[in-house]
Amino acid sequence: MKAKTLKKDKINVITLGCSKNLVDSEVMMQQLEANDFRVSHESSSDDNNIIIINTCGFIENAKQESIDTILQYADAKKQGLIDKLYVTGCLSQRYRDDLQQEIGEVDAWFGTLELPRLLKTLGADYQHELIGERLLTTPQHYAYMKIAEGCDRTCAFCAIPIMRGGHVSRPIPELTARARELAKQGVKELILIAQELTYYGVDIYKKRALAELLQALSAVDGIEWIRLHYAYPSRFPLEVIDVMKASPNICNYLDMPLQHISDKVLKGMKRQISKQQTIELIHQIRDRLPGIAIRTTMLVGFPGEREEDIEELEAFIRDMKFDRLGVFTYSHEEGTSAYAQADDVPETTKQERAARLMEVQEDISLDLNRQKIGRRFKTMIDRKEGEFFIGRTEYDSPEVDNEVMIPAANNYARIGDFAWVEVTDAQAFDLFGNIIPKTKI
Ligand code: SF4
Repeated sequence: MKAKTLKKDKINVITLGCSKNLVDSEVMMQQLEANDFRVSHESSSDDNNIIIINTCGFIENAKQESIDTILQYADAKKQGLIDKLYVTGCLSQRYRDDLQQEIGEVDAWFGTLELPRLLKTLGADYQHELIGERLLTTPQHYAYMKIAEGCDRTCAFCAIPIMRGGHVSRPIPELTARARELAKQGVKELILIAQELTYYGVDIYKKRALAELLQALSAVDGIEWIRLHYAYPSRFPLEVIDVMKASPNICNYLDMPLQHISDKVLKGMKRQISKQQTIELIHQIRDRLPGIAIRTTMLVGFPGEREEDIEELEAFIRDMKFDRLGVFTYSHEEGTSAYAQADDVPETTKQERAARLMEVQEDISLDLNRQKIGRRFKTMIDRKEGEFFIGRTEYDSPEVDNEVMIPAANNYARIGDFAWVEVTDAQAFDLFGNIIPKTKI
């Protein structure tokens, strides 16, 4: 990196954390561009003189990654390699007072709802007519769409409501207009996200309205896939599954974090659902829509979790055979209700429990993937990497799920297009296949 001047401001935005943060960065970048800044996302170029870090404050590892990134750029500023360093997002929202005393190189800190103040600090104006518009950082053919902000739940382990506030749904007409805009930009796959997707509508329509929203979005021309992330199991609106079944462009895919299955742990976590209710819900979903891919996440090492709770969880995972599973380890977070309890599961035990569950899942995933050999799937071609085109089926979300590896030597594909692929081989977390020529479909 070389020394900078303030003559031409070039801003590089770094995003840490989840897809919800990425959407916030995209909105910020659109606003910056509309104010004539040259803006890039996670650019490796060394000619940016302003850095904005959009941080994550979810759990210990994520906080550390955010702090390390801030320190890295604080060092660059000390060396005169950048002119300005700004920090925004969840970590900043949560720990601003402490952090600004510790890291003096940061020029200003902002909370999650302070984009107008951030723009003002840069000498820019918040452009109201651009509300909701974004500079996409994802490949042009897919985009995340945040349908609500915040969360009204009080899960005992979760600090998100402290950082993001209560649940606020965006109205259906606004989201539909946004989807039309995205489709015009070339987006074919919309990935709906919220802290609690299934609570959508309760605040503005006084009822759960995800099914209505899906009906409206599925009618938007050009959107070929709609995917759902972060459904909360308690009081799950089953009509969503009926809309999914009736609408060919809503992926038969549901990401529903369950966190645990032991009644004792679920109660401690304040998840508002029991083991029996969870099992019944999964059966109801699968009965209504056979073949639906369910992705879930579990949280191990919650205070008071014992070996028998993990055995119960392991048996549940074996029985349920989830298509996708992720496991997090509990992080003791100030401000959450679990913080009052002792963090009594040693870190090594948490890690062992997580690894043990992932091993179980690896066998399940391999089994499920092998059953796909010889079958044909509509596949989105995401990118080319080395010798392969890399695609995804409707059962796979970007970044977190299976990829379909298609040898580039004997297949022709265009990035961002759909193709029909016949699966020829399978590993636990990847599929291999060849594109079926249009004449043979
Ligand atoms: S529903 Fe999700 S975001 Fe909301 S408190 Fe629970 S874990 Fe946190």
